[in-house]
Amino acid sequence: MTDRYWNIDIPSIDKPGTVVVLATGGTIAGVGETGKSTVYASGQISGDDLVAAIPEIRNVANVETVQVCNINSDDITDAHWIRMAKLINVLARKENVAGFVITHGTDTMEETAYFLNLTVKTVKPVVLTGSMRPATAFSADGPMNLYQSICVASNPISCGRGVLMVFSDNVYSARSVVKSSSYSMTAMSGGTIGAIGIVRDGEVYYYETTAKTHTVNTEFDVIGIDALPKVSVVFFHADADVGMLEYAVQHSDGVVLAGAGAGEFSLAYKAVIEKLTVPLVVSTRIEDGIITQKSLMCPNTVAANNLQPQKAAVLLRLALTITKDHDELVRIFSTY
Ligand code: ASP
Repeated sequence: MTDRYWNIDIPSIDKPGTVVVLATGGTIAGVGETGKSTVYASGQISGDDLVAAIPEIRNVANVETVQVCNINSDDITDAHWIRMAKLINVLARKENVAGFVITHGTDTMEETAYFLNLTVKTVKPVVLTGSMRPATAFSADGPMNLYQSICVASNPISCGRGVLMVFSDNVYSARSVVKSSSYSMTAMSGGTIGAIGIVRDGEVYYYETTAKTHTVNTEFDVIGIDALPKVSVVFFHADADVGMLEYAVQHSDGVVLAGAGAGEFSLAYKAVIEKLTVPLVVSTRIEDGIITQKSLMCPNTVAANNLQPQKAAVLLRLALTITKDHDELVRIFSTY
């Protein structure tokens, strides 16, 4: 079968318990100078070759690979997200599919994870993974992360937990996971929420479940959608130029403001924001922050709660496919 929109070959999947690997690129597929961790190009090795490099995977599950793209994750767009959600929604209906692993660059992996968490319509496990070191580095972390992801995705106890990320022995929930180091092999963190599980020698142990609505229970649907509304993120800082905000508002369907502290900004920003009619979500540039609707400086804005700005931008894009109504946006941001 060939994907109608993207011309991708989709495997027929005739073996039970198959994990489908959607390969997108990133450092896990990166190649560079032997041994080096910093000088390399992302997205060079195919998903098939990544899987073939770990023969032990064959003892865990049958694996089929779909090469969605092979790029640096900074080049991932809403078109890639929609394509992956559609592929997963089609393939998840096949009885022989046990779950999915998405290999992805770490830079924007949390955004892809959250988008899929809100749009895939399956209880089958969907697990994202990547690596901090390219395949050609000493002690590359990709093979272990990929092996552990296959173990997690093929295990029925991973069903119904929302989209997951497996990284460096930990399992994270898509909503809370954030890249918190630009170099460490433990670059992913669940913030104050923490990891929800641990992987040891192929076994996964879960300790927490997410309380937020996800996957089959969301109101978002990618059927019939080929693009998302445009949302920009504006970063507030001392003496920030209101022109940046005005530009973003003029060129976007919605704006997320990464405010200071508890979602605050200057009087100059406040004066502009109060007159805005474009949907504006207020989050904070602080990693551990919560913005509540009651604490907002401007009542015409929407609180991101504890979503990081980049995650709030994902939710706002999806929300705007349904509504622009302020009260509805408030409801959506308190639900997801
Ligand atoms: N720049 C890379 C990417 O996001 C970083 C990584 O994968 O770790 O594709």
